Amino acid sequence: MVEGSSAGDQRKPKSSGAPIVVMKFGGTSVQDAAAIHRTISIVKGRRDRGLRPVVVVSAMAKVTDQLLLAAEAAAVNDTQQAMEISRSLRERHLGTAADLVGRNIQAVAKVIHENFDKLEDILRGVAAVGELTKRTIDLISSYGERLSSRIVADAFEHRGIRSAHVDARTCIITNSHHGRAVPQTELIGARLHEHVLPLLEVSAIPILGGFIGSAANGITTTLGRGGSDFTAALVGSGLNAGAIEIWTDVNGIMTTDPRICPDALRVRALSFEEAAELAYFGAKVLHPSTILPAVKKDIPVWVLNSHNPLNEGTKITAFAPRSSSPLKSISAKKHLTIIHIVSSRMLMSHKFLRASFEVFDRYACAVNMVSTSEVSISVSIDATDELPGIIADLSQIATVRTEERKALICLVGENIQGHKGLSERVFSAVREINLDMISQGANGINMSFMIDGTAVEGAVRSLHREFFADPDPAIFDLANTGKAVASAVLSKPRIADPSGVAKPAFAGVP
Ligand code: ADP
Ligand code: ASP
Ligand code: MG
Repeated sequence: MVEGSSAGDQRKPKSSGAPIVVMKFGGTSVQDAAAIHRTISIVKGRRDRGLRPVVVVSAMAKVTDQLLLAAEAAAVNDTQQAMEISRSLRERHLGTAADLVGRNIQAVAKVIHENFDKLEDILRGVAAVGELTKRTIDLISSYGERLSSRIVADAFEHRGIRSAHVDARTCIITNSHHGRAVPQTELIGARLHEHVLPLLEVSAIPILGGFIGSAANGITTTLGRGGSDFTAALVGSGLNAGAIEIWTDVNGIMTTDPRICPDALRVRALSFEEAAELAYFGAKVLHPSTILPAVKKDIPVWVLNSHNPLNEGTKITAFAPRSSSPLKSISAKKHLTIIHIVSSRMLMSHKFLRASFEVFDRYACAVNMVSTSEVSISVSIDATDELPGIIADLSQIATVRTEERKALICLVGENIQGHKGLSERVFSAVREINLDMISQGANGINMSFMIDGTAVEGAVRSLHREFFADPDPAIFDLANTGKAVASAVLSKPRIADPSGVAKPAFAGVP
């Protein structure tokens, strides 16, 4: 195996050659040795078709959650619990590596032990000082992707496929906003050309961990939960890839979350705009920031199922085909807080608006939805531990009331506002539910409303029944509902064309 940093010096970077395809594999696609074998077969299939894959992997399933639990336990001085979590994660990583590389485990086992020894030092440090900063949380949670990428790279090598582990922190340069760092795209492009392109030139498959980055001072940062999709898009954009593929555990973007509605259908194609709205408003299948870097370079994004690679998945491009159905998908976002801000009339109305939004700006807090009256504003935000500070600042200019555990339902479809009678159908489907706030996006492709968190499942199912009872087969795959069976034939991958920029939106399987 080539280590990324050293191979960077071997050859002059050159950007010509076969199309690059960035392939991101989520936690379930690398959760154990069997999943990693499937992942390797999929990547090999791309390479055998003459493409140049760059692989981005998440931490093994649930590892980030476990690391965060260990950090929290350490912060309250529960060292025993923190060490217990670390011990079981160490075993899991060692076990998976052993299943993958057998007797060649020494090198990777050494790396795994070194990483867990270091992690345990950090956890003990947190327990000793009794303080857990966002910077330390980033450092602790980075171990998931650091380890998974290293194990996957070794597994490629063991299967006789030339690979190169690249520490993503050398390429994904961000600002210092820990917990949700902002990538510095120009620097990232330059670093990718320095560390990743030369590996492609020597026919090695670069393997990077998603989610993690580093600030200019070298301190580890993260891109926010689910951020490996974002890493893939940044890498795709920085390397001018022909396609970005998000390999996950469902057949593509579905008409709604299949965990809520098992009869959700695969959407064959979506526009960048539609996919961005869905991701922003809760469709966990894509990190909300994934689409923008792809849009800027017009790189198609595919969402595909690593458990069922024969499936065509969902293709996301600048233009999606017309549909006779008003809606393409329904997303739901939970854990939101509504803040009602009633002016104390100390400020003129326009100044009141500005002063209120300055507070959200100060806390870098994104507002999901807004509604206003002459003297009041209601906004919804993601649940945040900054809430007390936000309330205190707003209370300087207004009377503030909050409602927690709210949820937002978002309906997305092309020209949604042009469909006559749509609102009537929506409101009749959710007539039993109390709606807190309602909004239609200015771009004409979404309609959303806030409800109580406990009403989400019922509302989504009812809306899905209303709008997808008679779906347009040109847009929705009627044969493909819910989670796909994992028993797909893997020996003969016949998968969607990643470089199909020139193909019609659902040429799909070549
Ligand atoms: P990964 O670990 O591969 O990144 P995620 O768990 O982040 O996977 O995202 C995949 C999950 O997203 C699916 O299992 C599904 O439950 C959920 N999901 C939510 N909304 C949608 C949707 N509209 N289409 C497909 N999956 C969705
Ligand atoms: N491992 C990170 C998380 O669980 C990032 C990712 O999986 O995309 O949030
Ligand atoms: Mg994800």
